[in-house]
Amino acid sequence: MRGFEAKKLDEAIALALAHIEPIADTETLPTTDSCGRVLAEDIVCPEDVPGFARSAMDGYAVRASETHGASREHPVLLKIIGSVEMGQDPRTLPSVHAGEACEIPTGGPLPDGADAVVMLEETERQNDQIVRLFAEVTPGTHVLSADSDFRRGELVFTAGHKLRAVDIGALLAMGIFSVKVYRRARVGLISTGSELVEAEQPIRPGQVRQINSHILYHLLESQGAQAISVGIVPDDRARLRATVQRAVREFDLVLLSGGSSVGTRDWTLQTLQELGEVLVHGLQIKPGKPTIFAVVDTKPVIGLPGNPVSCVLVFEKFVRPVLARRSGLRVLLPAHRLASAQLTQTVRSAPGREDFVAIRLRLDESLGRLYAEPVLGHSNNISTLARADGILRVPSEFEEVPEGAHVWVELL
Ligand code: AMP
Ligand code: MG
Repeated sequence: MRGFEAKKLDEAIALALAHIEPIADTETLPTTDSCGRVLAEDIVCPEDVPGFARSAMDGYAVRASETHGASREHPVLLKIIGSVEMGQDPRTLPSVHAGEACEIPTGGPLPDGADAVVMLEETERQNDQIVRLFAEVTPGTHVLSADSDFRRGELVFTAGHKLRAVDIGALLAMGIFSVKVYRRARVGLISTGSELVEAEQPIRPGQVRQINSHILYHLLESQGAQAISVGIVPDDRARLRATVQRAVREFDLVLLSGGSSVGTRDWTLQTLQELGEVLVHGLQIKPGKPTIFAVVDTKPVIGLPGNPVSCVLVFEKFVRPVLARRSGLRVLLPAHRLASAQLTQTVRSAPGREDFVAIRLRLDESLGRLYAEPVLGHSNNISTLARADGILRVPSEFEEVPEGAHVWVELL
């Protein structure tokens, strides 16, 4: 066997990240088209939002000092000077003076002079002109200040932040209609294996439908990258070498699947050693051990195992952070949503190895409790993941996770 010194996953990630330059190219996009993109500039709020003081309740805008001592037994009586309309320009509103109140809806602009709102439930109209207040308020009660959402000059996002749906809303609320973002990473996908056939083509016994590139394509697109399939390369040294050389010229990141182990027909390692520098060969994880990280002409190239389950796991655990760094992300947050569930069956794991177990979640409707059932199956079988809802990580220092344990499941 040729050298195969498996590294711990976090060490391998750290090593890979240290060798990756973020993409430098940027483009300016309409804010509404920038969801999922990585900011290439800091965002400083240009104006106060909402820009005017608003009521947070239906009720009466008042001077707080006027309400001193108000209660059910001792209501304060104020003169109603008008009613605020939604969307009304606050400059057209009458000022609220001592002894006065102005009717106001939730979200309505606070009239001049008023500094608090008494909610409708704490009031009663005596007649058209007079309102009785039953509660005391202090300045600011039920009022959203002009800068309560964002303050002018505030640093809202920093370069390297990946814009989410809520962030698009925030940018638009601030009146920011275009943003500078990094160009999307272009990721080239190569499948290797003489047994592989394009998925839609007829196959005969002995051949295997190529699915990895299709899975990776969608995983990459959902990460905001642009995936381009280069096709299938048979287990042929010269052809693999030529394909990798071309891909490295063309793409920001190259993913190969298959041929990453040490079999006599596995050419990925040798090819990458010849073309560049191999920094990782082997991860102390299961599935996914035969993984390669190399740098060829400054471009990161990752050799993923061919077994589809391993390929997906290595994408989730290793490729994601590499891609995130390459795409310009500064903060690498865990990418997954987690579900808390109770394990239905003891899961065993070899010490010194991180295990990832496919999990099906079952909801016990009567108890409202979520159960985690391990889905056992070979990593060659995509059915293992197709039947699963998520993944349970068993850290390397654990030899088992016992039945009944409460675990976090990363949703697929
Ligand atoms: P390898 O990593 O090349 O040893 O491949 C391991 C297993 O995964 C073999 O059974 C391959 O046929 C299978 N395999 C490799 N690449 C793919 C692919 N793109 N789609 C489906 N199965 C694959
Ligand atoms: Mg192979």
